[in-house]
Amino acid sequence: MRRQGGSRRRNADRRVAVTSFPVGDVGNLSVRFHGVRGSTPCEGPRFERFGGHTSCVELTTPGEEPLVLDLGTGVKSFGEQLVSEGSCNGGYHANVLLTHLHWDHVQGLPFFEPLFSGGQGLDIYGPVQPEGHLEEVFSRFMGPPFFPITIQELAAAVTFHDTTDDDFAIGGAKVRSRGVRHNGPTLGFRIEQSGCVVAYIPDHGPGCSPDDADDYIPTAVLELCDGADVVIHDAQYTRGEFETRRTWGHCTVDYAVHVAAEAGARTLALFHHDPYHDDPTVDTLLRYTQDLREAGRLSDILAASEGTALELTRETVA
Ligand SMILES: [Zn+2]
Ligand SMILES: [Zn+2]
Repeated sequence: MRRQGGSRRRNADRRVAVTSFPVGDVGNLSVRFHGVRGSTPCEGPRFERFGGHTSCVELTTPGEEPLVLDLGTGVKSFGEQLVSEGSCNGGYHANVLLTHLHWDHVQGLPFFEPLFSGGQGLDIYGPVQPEGHLEEVFSRFMGPPFFPITIQELAAAVTFHDTTDDDFAIGGAKVRSRGVRHNGPTLGFRIEQSGCVVAYIPDHGPGCSPDDADDYIPTAVLELCDGADVVIHDAQYTRGEFETRRTWGHCTVDYAVHVAAEAGARTLALFHHDPYHDDPTVDTLLRYTQDLREAGRLSDILAASEGTALELTRETVA
């Protein structure tokens, strides 16, 4: 299924095609959404199409270890899928790019099934914490009395890497991490792999820096999103909602479009949907953003939904 709505394509000479398929097909770089909700999980028929699990996105490239963006509740069904398809039979190892430690980004970790067996593991790159090393801080919420076992008691090995503004390699992937405005230390990431570029900024709160004008985009954010094939960005609020929640750490859908357009990105994936936004509301927000003037500078805008994959495929351009 090729995505509809290609009429906005203006950057047709770019070398990466972005198409959307049900999970299962494979491109040069696959972006698979396992959790797209912000703040807290939600469930019920009103949330069925976009899904209720919190942030978790998987990036895969043939011949490379997978990259996992955040460990929200979406990582549980992702782990079940890995086990059922036999991906853990030879030992599973992934690298996690963790934006921050809020519950909706870490809560799924203890339920990630590949961690229930020895010989498997995760390397987690997350933001430096003022209270101490990432592993120590993480251990405060995963362990008694909040949870029956500690990270160290998991069968698999979990290794933490304190990360700041940095540029580093994970296998063949070039990763850029930059601090973004939110409540508490928070990173955004840019991943370049197999000639494809994905930017991931699920929580971005312009109102956390009250001196910034509403349309101001920090240089670090532009650096992350510059010319990206896909920008996965916070899209939590309408303008009206933002007015009463300025300091809650999130932004409007208008601002998500503004960031992607100013950075010269191609496709914007609206992400981190508000848990009070049911399917018809997300549909309405998507149509609203597609009609914004700045949307004309993008090739496509989509609303990320659980169980969908974007396949980024390098094209030969004459
Ligand atoms: Zn969040
Ligand atoms: Zn957050």
